[in-house]
Order: sequence, then C-alpha cells, then structure tokens
Amino acid sequence: MALKSFHGGVHPPEYKELTEDKSLEVMPLPAEIFVPLGQHLGKPANSLVKKGEYVRRGQVLAESSGFISAPVHSPASGKFVKMLKGPVVGGTTADILLIKPGEPDPPKEGEEGAPVDSSPMLLEPYRLEMVSGEQIIERVREAGIVGQGGAAFPTAVKLSPPPDKPIDWMIINAAECEPYLTRDYRLMLERTDDLIDGILLIGKALGETVNLGIGIENNKPEAIQALREGVVRRAVQIEVFELKTKYPQGGEKMLIDAALGRKVPPGALPMEVGCVIQNVGTALAIRDAVLGGEVPATATLTVSGLGINEPRNLQVPIGTPLREVIAYCGGANEKARRVVVGGPMMGFAAYSLDAPVVKATSGILVLTEEELKAPPETACVNCGKCAEACPVNLLPFRLLKLAKAGRWEDTRDLGIEVCMECGTCAFTCPAHKPLVQYLRLGKKNVRNLPRKES
Ligand code: SF4
Ligand code: SF4
Repeated sequence: MALKSFHGGVHPPEYKELTEDKSLEVMPLPAEIFVPLGQHLGKPANSLVKKGEYVRRGQVLAESSGFISAPVHSPASGKFVKMLKGPVVGGTTADILLIKPGEPDPPKEGEEGAPVDSSPMLLEPYRLEMVSGEQIIERVREAGIVGQGGAAFPTAVKLSPPPDKPIDWMIINAAECEPYLTRDYRLMLERTDDLIDGILLIGKALGETVNLGIGIENNKPEAIQALREGVVRRAVQIEVFELKTKYPQGGEKMLIDAALGRKVPPGALPMEVGCVIQNVGTALAIRDAVLGGEVPATATLTVSGLGINEPRNLQVPIGTPLREVIAYCGGANEKARRVVVGGPMMGFAAYSLDAPVVKATSGILVLTEEELKAPPETACVNCGKCAEACPVNLLPFRLLKLAKAGRWEDTRDLGIEVCMECGTCAFTCPAHKPLVQYLRLGKKNVRNLPRKES
C-alpha cells in the first residue's frame, strides 16, 4: 500500500546515523545556569525571586504574565545570584536569571537562615484513571509546559480550543523530519509507555471523544514497531500513521494532510479542521507533570554534525550554555565552522555560545564546511522546481523577485504570510538562490504594512 504524504517536499541528506543509536544520557549540572524569562511564544514571565535567595529545583522563579505566556521554574537547587541581560538563541539579548547550583552559603550571623533542603519541589502526582481534563490542563499551565516542535507555544492554550472549534483528532507529531535530529526517535524507543500515557492524558484534556494518533515517518521502523506493540500491550485506541519520509513532513499542516487528508486553509490553524497536533517531547512533559508531579528541568536534545567529536542524545539542564554542551560532547573539531540550534532546515545560527539551552531546544549542530557548502548563486533558470516543492503552494521565485524590488504589498497578495520558512524551496533550487532570507525579509515587511480594508 502506498504510504501517505503531502504535496511537494524534498529529501535532504538525513545524517541520522550519527546519533540514532545513541541512548539518552543525562548531562550533569554546570557550575552556573542561565534561565531566560522568555522561553515561550508570548510575553516573558515576571520574576519572583530576590537576589541571593536560595531556590529549590522546581520552584517557580517567574510567573506567567498573561494568557499567552508560561511560568519559569528553577532547573536546579542553588543560589539565585542576579538577573542579567544575556544572549539568547536568535541573536538577541534577553532578561536571564543566573543560578549557581549547589548548596547555599551558610547563613551569617543576623542573616535570615537559608533553607538547606535541595530535594526537588514536586507537585502532587495524579493517577491516570482518576485525573480530569480540567486538572490536566491546569497542571500543564502550572508546570509551564511549551510545545517542543520549535515555536514554544504554551501547551495549556493549545489544549483549550474555543467551544466553536470542535476537535475530533489529536495527532502526535513524531515525524522528526529535520536532518540530524534523533531525540524524538530515542524518546519513542526508550519511553514508549510514558509516551502512551502522555497521549492518553492529552486525549482526556481535549475530551473523551477525540481520536488519538501518532504520525511517524517510515525511516523509523523500530520506533513504529515499539509504538504498535505498546498500543496492543496497553489495549488502547491510538492509530499509528506510517508516513512517507519527506521534508517537511513534520509541519503541522503537512502532517494533517498526510494522515487524514484534511487541508488546513492558508493562514488558519489546525483546529479549523478539527485537529490538534502535539510533539513527542510535549506529550512526555505532560505525562511527567501530571503523573510524576515534575516541572520541566531539562531539554532533551540531539548534539550532532560532522564538527562535533562525540555526537549524542542528551537531557541537558535548562539554562546550560551551548558551549558547555559542546564541551561535554568532546568539543568541536578543527573542521567545525558553524553552530546551529535546532535542525539545519529551520534552526538558527548561534551568534553566541553563551546563549543557554531552553525548554524547547531540540538540537545543537556543529557543522563543517562540507555540510554547509553553499555553491555560488547563479541566475534563475525559471525551472519552477521551488514552486513544485513548496508544500503550501507558493511561487518562491516570484516572491524572491518582488522582495528584491521591495514590493511588499505584491508579496502579500501572493500569500507570503503563509510561508513557514521551511527552506524546501531553497534546498531544491539549482541556482542556489537565498530564497528563505528574502522570504523572511518579505514576511517582516508585510507585518509592518497597514491592514487591508476588507
Ligand atoms: S520556505 Fe516558504 S516558500 Fe519556501 S518551500 Fe517553505 S513554505 Fe514554500
Ligand atoms: S528553483 Fe531556483 S532557478 Fe528554479 S525557478 Fe525557483 S528560484 Fe528559479
């Protein structure tokens, strides 16, 4: 039977073999951790801690500052040293809480005694059979869980669709279509039952009638088998959709199209077609918060690329600087040229290795000239390959010309706002046009245009 997929897409080299057999390891705490107040889409959280205060792992350091926001917890027990402005991934600076893990200094005479309990602060664990949908959503909000698929959207909001948008499918995005990344693959193999618990909890939160599924590419046969066996062993109703391996299969709209044949309209959210998509890591974070009483203290990520000495899959304490993670993996070799955070197609070049790992960090890639090779740009040959490959049916070559000419209104009329910056068009272009840079520029300028009268 033909495997399901979506229109367009490409097949970049996978490089998964570098880490797919590397089991998850826990990286020890560094000497200092740097915890940004904004680790999610939306407003940064508001700090609650006082300079010099001793904090416990799991303690709320900063509270949510609005509906689209999330609280931030301490990834370790130790001393809150100060708030500083520091680099974050994406090339900007942000407010960061500096924590020194470890025992507190003994209180001096006349000073208030510092608490010495360094055990993690746990929330009250629930039982899967007993917990209600409302309790799950409240716990997810309290634990500050955000989507692990890249955008870091607060998960509690995604679990609370408006009443006029009935949801009949929740699908776990297990495509992991970005080259190099294998953290979801390892999680599926190593925590199969926990993942099933997480899926059942999400189902409860969305309502008992919601159908549950997992969308996974067919380049992960062991994980497909483990999930199918887990579903049978647990006697639960979760459909495993085996999908064709193709980038960007993990885009929400592509996943829904491939699994269910439903088309999410341009500019709309999956809920418009009755769907909610969650990532593997998000489902596990929900499981850990609801059934284990834990808040996210680590990010599970792949460290890979031909420029790193020891590629690995790691659980890294949130707030660990990128340079410490690279050092823990044996350091970069002499061929290393660039560090990318996330996958190579949609990730960001790291401008500073002092930027910390955050809740949604999925990968740290140390890439060499060979992997980055970008042949010189040549003239467009009007081959149309970029348009053929675009999964949302845009005309990238036209958008490129319009963006170069600064014709932002025309780019808007051609639908540039639905571009998801997946890089598929640029990958396929024989003229090596820097399409994504211009598409990003175009989107930014379109956002600043006055709204059109309808
Ligand atoms: S980057 Fe934008 S235009 Fe290019 S393929 Fe992806 S969605 Fe289409
Ligand atoms: S793929 Fe490249 S060369 Fe072909 S039409 Fe698009 S921009 Fe032009």
